[in-house]
This record gives sequence, structure tokens and C-alpha cells, in this order.
Amino acid sequence: MSQENKGVWVFSELPALAYELLGKGRTLADNLGTELAAISIGASTDAHDYIKRGADRVFLVNDPALTTFQVDSYADAITALVNKHKPDVLLIGATRNGLEFAPRLAERLKTGCVTEATRLELDAEKKFVLMDRVTYGGNLVETHISRSKPQMATVAKGLFSPMQADPSRKGEIVKPEPTIKPSTIKVLETKAKSAKGIRLTDASIIVSFGRGVKKKEDMTMIEEFAQTVGGAVGCSRPIAEDLHWLPVDQYVGLSGQKVNPKLYLAFGISGQIQHQTGIRGSRIIVAINNDPKAPIFEFSDYCIVGDLYQVIPALSNAVKQLGKTQ
Ligand code: FAD
Repeated sequence: MSQENKGVWVFSELPALAYELLGKGRTLADNLGTELAAISIGASTDAHDYIKRGADRVFLVNDPALTTFQVDSYADAITALVNKHKPDVLLIGATRNGLEFAPRLAERLKTGCVTEATRLELDAEKKFVLMDRVTYGGNLVETHISRSKPQMATVAKGLFSPMQADPSRKGEIVKPEPTIKPSTIKVLETKAKSAKGIRLTDASIIVSFGRGVKKKEDMTMIEEFAQTVGGAVGCSRPIAEDLHWLPVDQYVGLSGQKVNPKLYLAFGISGQIQHQTGIRGSRIIVAINNDPKAPIFEFSDYCIVGDLYQVIPALSNAVKQLGKTQ
């Protein structure tokens, strides 16, 4: 199969992530001298945006079975397209949905899938994509190659830069009609994205806290502060997994959400490597910790050594004063 595989393809149901994949995909496709294609499922308005962001071709799949995400239907649709056109590289956005269907897709295509790749580069002979991923609790980076095609990886948001939209770019929009079997899954209930309805991966400000917060009731202080600065609330893993103060989709880190806000405020979080892995994409990290030797200070942009119970009211007052003077 490998000789005939050509083209770099990307898919994410999250347009911002799809644009980032297109940004990286464009570089790979140019270096391989091949075309870049995006798969768009169920959203006709996106197709031209994908072309503006680097795609040469967009496969626009509209089928009633794909109106809401169903892992088996999405896998059906993309398997059919890949089997027909045989791309060389297939990048899937590592959203909750993407992480759910990418391994199934890989199994159907009889290829491998590197989950949450952090680097994608061609080898010297341009034969393989070298795909890095972080492993062993964030202590090691391993480099994978896929001997089977397509070379598949899932990629989290915030790792690669999208191209500037270029309205003059030209591309082709194809409307395939793959055969999709009725889903065997029935959705019984859909819950809110997060407690406050903001997905952490979409937030530009995140107010996160860890075990430095002593009691569940003290979360109110964190939530009020988040409201003052217009941020979403995140946490370290023990807060969600051990204490169950917040849902598991609100903890940040290696096994949690990978976030890329403009501003990440960490209150009472020690900053172990597993937490650090999830916040590397943040533009500015501000850490508040009463231990001057806390590991989080080693990779933060602003370090406040102090008791969060005193720092939060002070910061809150300062932000409110700033609001009044502007
Ligand atoms: P602690 O490490 O207990 O730190 C609390 C901090 O609060 C300390 O630094 C302390 O100095 C400070 N503090 C205490 N009181 C105050 C106060 N009054 N004011 C200011 N500061 C104060 N963790 C994650 O977060 N995300 C992950 O995705 C994740 N994945 C993991 C995967 C694996 C395989 C493993 C093994 C672990 C993982 N962990 C993850 C756990 C991680 O190793 C740490 O145990 C965890 O991040 C620690 O959480 P914490 O910082 O809230 O708590």
C-alpha cells in the first residue's frame, strides 16, 4: 500500500485546531511535494476557510448520520475516504472526540496511531514522519515512525501555528458520499462542556488551583476570582480525581486537558512534570505558592511567593481597581 500513498490530510471537528493542523500539514506537504487536504464533516461554511488556511482540497462530507458526533459513523466516513484516496499522512485533532475515534480508525485502516504527538518532522530521506510523544509521566520523549500508511497521529491544540487566512488561495471542494452504516450507539444525555460552560481548551484565561486550597468551600473564592478576571476554572489532578471537587474534564496536565491560554494562573499547585506538561502551551504562567522552592516557579513567567488566601483578595482588589480606572 505504501508506494501509492500520497498527500497530507487533517481532520478536527474544532475549526481552530483544524487550522493549526493545516499550518503544520502545509509544511509537511510542501516538503514532501504533495497536496494538503482537510476533511470537513457536516459544516459547509468551513470549507473555504480551510482553503484560506492552507488546504489544496477539502472533502466536505454531509450526511444526516454525522450531524452529531458518533464514533462509529465518523470512523466509517473517514475510513471510506482514506481507503479510496490513500493519503500518506493523516493528522487528527486530539479532542475528546478525536481521541475516541482515531484508534478505531487506525484499527480499521490497519495502521498505527501515535496519540498526542508533540513534534512532527520528516526524516532526512523524507520517507517517514518522525512523531514525538511524551511518555513515562512526562519524563521521557519517544520518537515513533509508522511503517504502515497512512502515518497517523493525534495532535493536541496549541502545538502548531495556523497560517494567516489568505482569501486569494484557491482549492478544490469535493463532496464525497461515503457509505455510513447506522450508528449502533444511542446518546441518552449530553452534559454541559464544563461547570461554567467554557471548555478549558478554548479559554484565554484559566484560573487553576491545587491542593494548596484547603477546603472545598474555598473554591468559591477561586470561582469568584475567575469571574473577576473573566477566566475559566481549572485544577490539578488530585482536586478532580481524588477529592472530586470538580469534574475530571477540568483538570489540567499530562492525563488531563492540554491548555494554551494567554494567561494561566496557578494557585497552590506544586508544578510536578505531569501538570507542567498540560500548561506548556500557555503564553504567560503566573504561579502563586507559599513554598519558594515549589517546582512551578522554575517554569513560570511571574512568581508570587505567598499564601493564596492573602494573595487572591489582593489580586482581586487590584484587578477591580484597574477596571475602575480604565
Ligand atoms: P501538591 O503537589 O500537594 O501541591 C500543593 C502546593 O500548594 C504545594 O506546592 C504547596 O507549597 C502549595 N500550597 C499549600 N498551601 C498553600 C497556600 N496557602 N498558598 C499557596 N500555596 C500553597 N497531576 C496533574 O495536575 N495533572 C495531570 O494530568 C497529572 N497526571 C498524572 C499522570 C501520572 C501518570 C501520574 C503518576 C501523576 C499525575 N499527576 C497529574 C499528579 C502529579 O504528579 C501531582 O501529584 C499533582 O499535580 C499535584 O497536585 P497539586 O500541585 O495540587 O498538589
